[in-house]
Amino acid sequence: MLKTDVLIIGGGLAGLSCAYHLERSGRRVSYLVLEKGDRVGGYAGSIVKNGFIFDHTGHLLHLHDPYGKKLILNLLKGNLYLRERRSWIYSNGIYTRYPFQANTYGLPQRVIEDCVVGFLKTAGQGSNHRLFKSPSFKHWALQTFGEGICKHFMFPYNEKLWRVPLNRMTTEWQGRFVPKPKLEEVLYGSLTDQKKFFGYNAAFRYPKRGGIQSLPDALAQRIQNLHLGARVTRVDLRERVAQVNGVGEIAFKFLVNTAPLNRFVDLISWVPSSVREAGRQLRFTDVYCLSLGVQRAGVSDRHWIYFPEKRFNFYRVGFSTNFSPHVAPPGATSMYIELSRRPGEGIDLAREEKRALEGLRSCGILKSSDRLLARHWIPMPCAYVLYDFQRERALHAIFTYLRGQKVESIGRYGAWKYSFMEEAILDGKRCAQKILGVAPKSSQKLPEVELKPLK
Ligand SMILES: Cc1cc2nc3c(=O)[nH]c(=O)nc-3n(C[C@H](O)[C@H](O)[C@H](O)COP(=O)(O)OP(=O)(O)OC[C@H]3O[C@@H](n4cnc5c(N)ncnc54)[C@H](O)[C@@H]3O)c2cc1C
Repeated sequence: MLKTDVLIIGGGLAGLSCAYHLERSGRRVSYLVLEKGDRVGGYAGSIVKNGFIFDHTGHLLHLHDPYGKKLILNLLKGNLYLRERRSWIYSNGIYTRYPFQANTYGLPQRVIEDCVVGFLKTAGQGSNHRLFKSPSFKHWALQTFGEGICKHFMFPYNEKLWRVPLNRMTTEWQGRFVPKPKLEEVLYGSLTDQKKFFGYNAAFRYPKRGGIQSLPDALAQRIQNLHLGARVTRVDLRERVAQVNGVGEIAFKFLVNTAPLNRFVDLISWVPSSVREAGRQLRFTDVYCLSLGVQRAGVSDRHWIYFPEKRFNFYRVGFSTNFSPHVAPPGATSMYIELSRRPGEGIDLAREEKRALEGLRSCGILKSSDRLLARHWIPMPCAYVLYDFQRERALHAIFTYLRGQKVESIGRYGAWKYSFMEEAILDGKRCAQKILGVAPKSSQKLPEVELKPLK
């Protein structure tokens, strides 16, 4: 039977980073990364079709942590553009700048009135929502932005994305993701085209060449023990053995999971029923990404556009060639269209594609004469974990159990959170440090463990 000190499930950024930091430590701790797919990167990976490099929707680098920034800049050595965000909202037949709540200038008079008057009322009321220990997202949005902004953007957009009633969602996820302008900014943005940047991602980086796949590839090049096409199908935490498709059994001392937490819980043999039940309470939203290669340069000069209105079946559209021109053949535009679904809801891709193309023509993004050089659907199950009122209790039950079993579950889906690429990399680093903190020092290699590269 193969043996390793640290078995890592998943070759996405979190798993690769954990392996990279174990390897870099210089300690003689053996590790093995198992990835079920035929490439590394998970959702931070790309697909090549007809000369286009399609990411899983937009994957832009927002670097906030000094170590994360240094590492990513080093990994991608000069292969990065720095871009100032150009994100917009399309509603009432016009474009307004992101975020909607601070940029209503140009919208029909009645919409501006609704938004500004509603916002003024919230300022008059003070923060009622502070009275509630954990308000719903719906309640919080109404208290924070007022009825008009909620009616014309916050509610329709978020309902389209999350696909659940907003009073079932908490506010824990939105801290850095939903900008909260000041009263003067809302007023100013209703009277003039305010060009001020709001939010956490006013600028972003993106690889010049290779799409976002170049980031996980750069990490993977720096680690030795990675096995692709290796799906973990069962984990026995008592015997410390994993069952892996095409490989067989692998014994481990430490286990690091980066697969979606609910699915991971289902892989564990002999798991207490309360933990299994907690896994089933974790909710999420699926995304379907329609990637298009259009035979026309400069279809839009924007980076991405939000679509809150129901008449469009998508919630967001982005233009990857504006991140880097090298993701498409010369003279072409690469773009992506994002739709979401509740899990198990089903989707008729042919029908949705027709509707999406009609929608894009109706708002003038595509012309009826446009020729498509490539089109490709990328289903993204479990793309967004849902912050509902069950989540925290369920996570508490699962993580209490996993801690007792000496298992780490990290990354956006392993830790079941709304986080980004840099954070997945930092999660991997922290996890490696934690393992190294309890692993024996360099000269005392764990005796019964042998390092066995599979690839
Ligand atoms: C629509 C969308 C847009 C996003 N946009 C951005 C953005 O602009 N900027 C940004 O920074 N972040 C963005 N993100 C977030 C980013 O994708 C994640 O933070 C990051 O990719 C998470 O990495 P991970 O390793 O935690 O998970 P994953 O990427 O999900 O990696 C987990 C890996 O585990 C593998 N796996 C699963 N089960 C098994 C098994 N049983 N056996 C073996 N392998 C298994 C999977 O194949 C996968 O490769 C976006 C996410 C989504 C969904």
